[in-house]
Amino acid sequence: MSRAVRRDGKRLGFVPTMGALHEGHLSLLSAARASCDIVTASIFVNPTQFGPNEDLEKYPRSFERDCELLEKEGVDVLFAPSVEEMYPAGAVTWVTVEELSGKLDGRSRPGHFRGVTTIVSKLFHVVEPDVAFFGQKDAAQVAIIRRMVRDLNLPVEIAACPIVREVDGLAMSSRNAYLDPQQRKQALVLHRSLMRVEKRVDEGERKAAKLVAAAREEFGREPAVRLDYFEIVDAQSLDPLEDVSKGAVAAVAAYVGPTRLIDNLVLREG
Ligand code: AMP
Repeated sequence: MSRAVRRDGKRLGFVPTMGALHEGHLSLLSAARASCDIVTASIFVNPTQFGPNEDLEKYPRSFERDCELLEKEGVDVLFAPSVEEMYPAGAVTWVTVEELSGKLDGRSRPGHFRGVTTIVSKLFHVVEPDVAFFGQKDAAQVAIIRRMVRDLNLPVEIAACPIVREVDGLAMSSRNAYLDPQQRKQALVLHRSLMRVEKRVDEGERKAAKLVAAAREEFGREPAVRLDYFEIVDAQSLDPLEDVSKGAVAAVAAYVGPTRLIDNLVLREG
């Protein structure tokens, strides 16, 4: 289909998801709608990006509701393959972005980004989009996919869309469904820590170590939440920065009960 679309001079947009759709996903679909003639979405809970003790089995699935939402959003094509279709028995071929895949979430979730880059490259081969839309919510994922596309000369443009949040600041995530009312309140510490860092930057602080200390202090006030990492990194290389400069991102991951949540904020220029 993508060849026919291109032959007609039309632009094909692609939004890959794992389903359990929320406003964050819908924002990617409307960005795709706004700049493309045809929009394809995929729903695939990709087993290879989950670690052995992670939540693959209980990951929220709401296929019927997702289909209704996609239809309402005017998505033209849904690709929802089975695991067997995407991973034929005996598949041993991987796409790995070396170095970057071991940073941030990649350090706490070994193999996670290898699973992501393998499935995204396979989806790109099947769908053949002109442009693919990803959320800035997963900042490391965006950096790694951009690098993969560059390194492998893939003919696809990558568009990153802003983080969509609940009114109280919590970044929308399919995993928020795991939170009980108390954990839902505790989870706000991720956003609070980012706001505190942003305020300090606005006040003139540039030292990453000072900013990270301020964020950690915020987590100290919410002992029920276990901080995994809070780092200030370069958005492209994901390397930690000593001073906030152009392209700096504050990235955080934390466990609220058993639920691992992430969030981040692009910091202003130094
Ligand atoms: P997922 O279904 O969690 O794999 O996410 C599919 C896409 O939606 C990824 O590109 C995510 O970065 C993006 N996404 C998830 N949550 C949000 C959010 N709150 N705001 C913007 N994009 C999001």
